[in-house]
Amino acid sequence: MKDKIVEILKKDFVCDKCLGRNFGQLLTGMSNEERGNVLRHYIAMLIDSGEKIDVDNSNFYGINFHAKKMEAKKPKECSICFDIFKEIKKKVKPIVKKLEKYDYKTFLVGCKLTPELANKEQELWERIGIEWCESIKNEINREIGIEIERITGKKMDRKSPDIIVTFDFNTDKVELYVRSVYVYGKYQKLVRGIPQTKWKKKIFHTSVQEIIEKPFLRQTNAVRGSFHGSGREDINVRCLGWRPFVLEIVEPKIRKIKLNESMKEINKSKKVRVKDLKIVGKEIVKKIKFANYDKTYRAIVEFEDPIKVLKKVSELKDAIITQKTPIRVLRRRVDKIRKRKVKDIKYKFLSSKRAEFTIKAQSGLYIKELINGDEGRTQPSISDLIKNKVKKIDLDVIKIYCD
Ligand SMILES: [Zn+2]
Repeated sequence: MKDKIVEILKKDFVCDKCLGRNFGQLLTGMSNEERGNVLRHYIAMLIDSGEKIDVDNSNFYGINFHAKKMEAKKPKECSICFDIFKEIKKKVKPIVKKLEKYDYKTFLVGCKLTPELANKEQELWERIGIEWCESIKNEINREIGIEIERITGKKMDRKSPDIIVTFDFNTDKVELYVRSVYVYGKYQKLVRGIPQTKWKKKIFHTSVQEIIEKPFLRQTNAVRGSFHGSGREDINVRCLGWRPFVLEIVEPKIRKIKLNESMKEINKSKKVRVKDLKIVGKEIVKKIKFANYDKTYRAIVEFEDPIKVLKKVSELKDAIITQKTPIRVLRRRVDKIRKRKVKDIKYKFLSSKRAEFTIKAQSGLYIKELINGDEGRTQPSISDLIKNKVKKIDLDVIKIYCD
């Protein structure tokens, strides 16, 4: 330990912070500056006691020795940190200014050092080892954090900060990474003809996403929303059952969300309704996306010819359906075979060419193809069983078994 301290003080001036930081893991409740001060005085006492120690004299400037044992010259800047810690107050000003635009309770700081700073530390570590040390980066991050805390009254948080601040000492550039706010809920889509998510090309006037995110984006003054549904219904399919979703609010300026107010506004749209809104963690997105919920559908089907008999359709109950990837999605999905179960099926005549089917299906079954057979790619199918071609399907999701 003594050798280590001497080695640090041997060549050049090293400030208390930089000296103490190399013993940062020894004792708690003490700053590195205090550690450095104690260690410097320890070596000074050894020298004062008459021990011959080879050190750079400027490290002992201002310490009073007996009988002029040492004449120290005034040190220049610290050879390890280049007195960077003295600049922290100045560096923090633009950070705080940038943070002012956001509403947050907690933050975390990360910095990028100049190569000189990083190299100096490396060189020292190669000489003395890293047994008890803390890195300069760590201490700079903490010092910047403490200064931000002092000015703003906000708190540093390692686990899940609202904002991560990065500061680059090469360019003095400040960047903020604002944690998204996640709103969970369940929605119904009451009309046909709107997609679930916003399209890049604006073909559709609106979408489930746009209707739901509108009040949230306004309240939070966020950059954009990102919509994660638990599965999706086709554009021309209504979803009368409640489908779970998570709306990610990206880069919110305000983090306080009025759930009830938003719900009322969304429900006024008449196109989409939501319920059970709550703020959740990011991990729920995955849970929602990979959930496999069974669903019940209602289909009003128009056939090309008059229906003779529907009874055969009940053979589909508990049947395993083999489906090649539907023609309508072949362009964007891999062509493969999928097997899913029909858990229940009921039917009802509506007129000579029209019938209603209520189908409970295992998650992932392509319902339109179960009905029309998809040119033989889905087997068995309603169309095949009753030997009648399908002209039109009006499909609704009426229940999603999500809890
Ligand atoms: Zn220093």
